[in-house]
Amino acid sequence: MMVVTERLQEAFEHLGWSRIPEILHQHAEEAAAQNRTYLDFLDGLLQEELSAKHDRFIRMKTRMAHLPYHKTLDQFDFGFQPSVEERRIRDLATLRFVEHQENLVFLGPPGVGKTHLAVALALEAIKRRYTVYFTTAHDLVQTLQQAHLNNTITQKMRALTKPNLLIIDEIGYRKMDETAAHFFFQIIAERYESGSIILTSNKSYGAWGEIFGDSVLATAILDRLLHHSTTINIKGESYRIKEKKKAGFFRPDTENEKTD
Ligand code: ADP
Ligand code: MG
Repeated sequence: MMVVTERLQEAFEHLGWSRIPEILHQHAEEAAAQNRTYLDFLDGLLQEELSAKHDRFIRMKTRMAHLPYHKTLDQFDFGFQPSVEERRIRDLATLRFVEHQENLVFLGPPGVGKTHLAVALALEAIKRRYTVYFTTAHDLVQTLQQAHLNNTITQKMRALTKPNLLIIDEIGYRKMDETAAHFFFQIIAERYESGSIILTSNKSYGAWGEIFGDSVLATAILDRLLHHSTTINIKGESYRIKEKKKAGFFRPDTENEKTD
């Protein structure tokens, strides 16, 4: 018996199976007590191993996606933000737009849930085994400028073109200088009709000329970005402020709207 246990242990290690060793003895006892068939017993073990493997895969892909936080669609309170139609977001969560290499843009003031929704869709995409990478516009441009100086721009561009879904958060919080805007354009152009982008911005499209310091470049960027795309315009109150109000950071006389 000892020999079998040791041999099994070795086999599991060799195969890289980590879940079965944890549950083997309990499953074996239960199977004996319940008179389950050998096939049924084996099936139960393998299903557990496969499910653990899937969980490990999702965890690894989530780490690689660089998400700023972990928030799901179920954690989004659609009641609080009526300008976000739940049906539309659930439809986007089918990820047809990723399958078709289309883009998605969330526009709206700070705190209305743009990043939350982008992250939630990213998590759905990871579950469906799409590759995802999240970056802020600022980090994206800095990384590209650094890569340009280090002569690694080709590799970096390839790394940013490869994921099925690239999320570029917070366009418009800072203006871009000429080289930054140029690199930004290149990413959009490289991914055009080859991979999806989710983009968030606090500025309406009309103000994008200012962000890029060049209205011709802004038009070229918008042209490619919006050709196959959906825009979700979020109009509403900041969720962060709602939470602060609840906690009493705002005095009633400074409020111009009723709290719940
Ligand atoms: P922004 O639009 O500035 O990107 P975020 O998406 O980061 O804002 O939202 C700010 C915070 O408020 C996050 O913690 C987010 O999870 C939360 N939040 C925003 N809107 C909602 C909502 N409708 N339901 C639940 N949480 C929300
Ligand atoms: Mg945000």
